[in-house]
Amino acid sequence: MYDQTSERTPARRGEVVPSGLDYAPSLEAVDQVSIDESYDLWIDGKPSPPAANRYFPTVNPATEETLTRVAEGDGEDVDRAVAAARKAYNGAWGKMAGKERAKYLYRLARMLAERSREFAVLETLDGGKPIKESRDVDLPLASAHFFYYAGWADKLEYAFPGLDTRPLGVAAQVIPWNFPILMLAWKVAPALAAGNTVVLKPAETTPLTALAFARLTAEAGLPPGVLNIVTGGGGAGAEAVAHPGVDKVAFTGSTEVGKLIQKRLAGARKRLTLELGGKAPHIVFEDAPVDQAVEGVINGIFFNQGHVCCAGSRLLVQESIYDAFLDRLKVRLASLRVGDPLDKNTDVGAINSRAQLDKIGALVEIGVAEGAEMYQPPCALPERGYWFAPTLFMGVSQGHRIAREEIFGPVLSIMTFRTPVEAVEKANNTPYGLSAGVWTAKGSRILWVADRLRAGVVWANTYNKFDPASPFGGYRESGFGREGGRHGLLPYLRGGS
Ligand code: NAD
Repeated sequence: MYDQTSERTPARRGEVVPSGLDYAPSLEAVDQVSIDESYDLWIDGKPSPPAANRYFPTVNPATEETLTRVAEGDGEDVDRAVAAARKAYNGAWGKMAGKERAKYLYRLARMLAERSREFAVLETLDGGKPIKESRDVDLPLASAHFFYYAGWADKLEYAFPGLDTRPLGVAAQVIPWNFPILMLAWKVAPALAAGNTVVLKPAETTPLTALAFARLTAEAGLPPGVLNIVTGGGGAGAEAVAHPGVDKVAFTGSTEVGKLIQKRLAGARKRLTLELGGKAPHIVFEDAPVDQAVEGVINGIFFNQGHVCCAGSRLLVQESIYDAFLDRLKVRLASLRVGDPLDKNTDVGAINSRAQLDKIGALVEIGVAEGAEMYQPPCALPERGYWFAPTLFMGVSQGHRIAREEIFGPVLSIMTFRTPVEAVEKANNTPYGLSAGVWTAKGSRILWVADRLRAGVVWANTYNKFDPASPFGGYRESGFGREGGRHGLLPYLRGGS
């Protein structure tokens, strides 16, 4: 395991100026959240004990304390969940008019908004992300997704004239741990708006907000079986996607598992969308507004500890401004506050799990061994919990593993380019194609570059901007299909793709 305390290098050029300000702790209250001693699966509108009676712990990664124990679903449980979803689809939900389905989605959107503080705290406790992110990003966006898709539920035939807008049936949806409630919203809202029913498998390290959401659906009066939640590990996910009673599979997670699923479903009469990994280029031209670009780059890689599929993890800076840009980046890096995710001043929270911490450490070690120059600002990491200091790598070449593989942590590789053509060539030199960023004062250059980047999303003079009305998805090893926007409905409609 890579030892973060022993290898920190001082700034290579320019003095790193400490932030100069100490912040008093400003802890979010946790008393609004009550966590049960254990959680069952959620099947047919109510808690349901797992067939094998097995439960696994879910841990607060900032403290390593066990929060509770959660049911470990298996094939038998998936069977029951799919049967409940089918019954609901063949019953009231399948026959319901779009404007009636919309009422449930609006209700869920409002309830999520009303209880967003409670959900935000739960998300932060279970996943380690800073409260200011779960409070200001994850929860508002999750609620906005339900609002947005509620609006489409009774307008499908107008949204897609001439298309068969009938639903597909039962959708199996598998989500990762980096944005648990938001990924649930991205998947569940369009599926229900289009009239499908759902079996959702949350990630094993972050099941709690999905289970809290399940209870919300009961309070909202959602008919039983419309949303079923099977918690558990990869095995439960594999059972769900392969189940013969499932018509549609939507997976968000690693490229490795995405490929397995694609192989497994080859030849099956199931629709599939895959939202997979990324290694996004973030290009800064010499005419870019430097301070804003530094902020964009910091947000691009350190937001959510870099546990972001579209994280701008490969920074490409024009050679003429490299030295000055690097100096400012280091200064800004030194002002990031790493620590207690429940503290409202925290910028970088805990790494989601021990396994992810080990993966980040291993790749960073490889970066050092391959000859890249590492820089970490001085920062004290808490003794307990899973932490990784914000990290820059200079002297990185295109062949280095840290420049090619998704690290999914707070680690940025910096490279340079001289001409726009070289920038585009280096940016596209990846098997992924999820997102990219470009910073320049010239509108024409933005268009020229965006046209040539092989990425599903290109942000210009900003980064990590999300909106329910805007489709999101990848090319190549980042997957296929779109979530968000009108496009996000198509995978859930018979005439869609
Ligand atoms: P992962 O692939 O290990 O797990 C994702 C989910 O799949 C989990 O719920 C897991 O239990 C389940 N799973 C594991 N094996 C399975 C199998 N054989 N069959 C079915 N399900 C299985 O990924 P992760 O580590 O949880 O998440 C990180 C990855 O997700 C990163 O690669 C990241 O880029 C990607 N991601 C992509 C997007 C996107 O929109 N493109 C969004 C968020 C995360």
